[in-house]
Amino acid sequence: MKILVINCGSSSLKYQVLDMTSEILLAKGLVERIGIEGSYLTHEKIGTEKFKIQEPMASHKEAIGHVLNALTDADHGVIKSMDELGAVGHRVVHAGEKYASSVLITDEVVEALTECIELAPLHNPPNLLGINACKELMPNTPMVAVFDTAFHQTMPPESYIYAIPYEYYEKYKIRRYGFHGTSHKYVAERTADILGVNIEDLKIITCHLGNGASVTAIKRGKSMDTSMGFTPLEGLVMGTRSGDIDPAIVSYIKDKENIEHSEVNNILNKKSGVLGISGVSSDFRDLDEAVSKGNERAELALKVFAHKVKFYIGAYIAIMNGVDAIVFTAGVGENSIDMRDVICNELGNLGIKLDLVKNKVRGKETIISRDDSKVKILLIPTNEELMIARDTFNIVRTI
Ligand code: ADP
Repeated sequence: MKILVINCGSSSLKYQVLDMTSEILLAKGLVERIGIEGSYLTHEKIGTEKFKIQEPMASHKEAIGHVLNALTDADHGVIKSMDELGAVGHRVVHAGEKYASSVLITDEVVEALTECIELAPLHNPPNLLGINACKELMPNTPMVAVFDTAFHQTMPPESYIYAIPYEYYEKYKIRRYGFHGTSHKYVAERTADILGVNIEDLKIITCHLGNGASVTAIKRGKSMDTSMGFTPLEGLVMGTRSGDIDPAIVSYIKDKENIEHSEVNNILNKKSGVLGISGVSSDFRDLDEAVSKGNERAELALKVFAHKVKFYIGAYIAIMNGVDAIVFTAGVGENSIDMRDVICNELGNLGIKLDLVKNKVRGKETIISRDDSKVKILLIPTNEELMIARDTFNIVRTI
């Protein structure tokens, strides 16, 4: 069965087509600037040159129409007609407490996700636009929603309840949800495969370090705690997000700067993180370059970032009463040799010893701990799309 995986953002859309008989990637692409002047689609049939279509795409429906044209194109396509697609898997950010695993999309599911818009005002609306557009363009193709929050629904209440009046949890569902669940689950399952150990027998700490970043404590294959919370703002220092701060800072900045709440929110989401500290960039490559030229604030930003990852690793070792494997994934985790080195430095007393030679690697599935390290350290490139395709395939083949 061939499956189309769709990940819709507000003005962009990423897609992949996978053949699930052998889990082979057939094509992938990206539409950018949807609803903005200068929309374009970059499509790649695997093994051939990328090609670009520059056409106005005013809506997600128009964008998906162009994706389907590219997929059925005589030269660049990978299917003869849309009927060859057995299902569509959609990445959906927030399912609240409603879904703890992926589901077949029905009208009831769409309704439930619409109710979750309040919890994820930036993410769920474009996800729903993608679902509705596919429903119109491919009314007979089954669709599955795969949620970022689902994997973390196993967290115990002591991990997800905030110490604020309990009625806010009851009335407004204010609690910790966690995100990047598909990625954390994927790398945890790969860890068990690579180590040749049943996931039931492992305690794993997964570090998804990208523009958005989160750490998860996984015991017996289940998320026990994760660093993101009610929204993806909590936890680690990120590219532009502050991560954990004293909540009193919010009203203090608001009063001092005489700005609206929404502006404080914008500052914490878009102008903070390593960008905020360094004043240079949210991109770790730019920060590395600035450091090499002696920029002290860029150096400080990287140190604060690493400190916070280390902080969570320590916390999760305590929560799980130990750890067998620590995994690095996503843009920074997969590529930044120095960042992995700084995070793992001086953890020897906890049985965590990075091999500095094995660590000199990027974007490749491999073990990077020393042979005498009690805790294995792994680098595993994430593959959220494969995970979405797998869930979609497993659900659709039973209907
Ligand atoms: P997201 O999916 O959250 O947008 P990614 O997982 O793609 O993020 O990660 C993007 C981040 O990865 C960027 O901040 C970029 O700096 C970082 N990155 C990519 N390549 C490298 C590299 N070679 N060295 C350091 N950081 C890198």
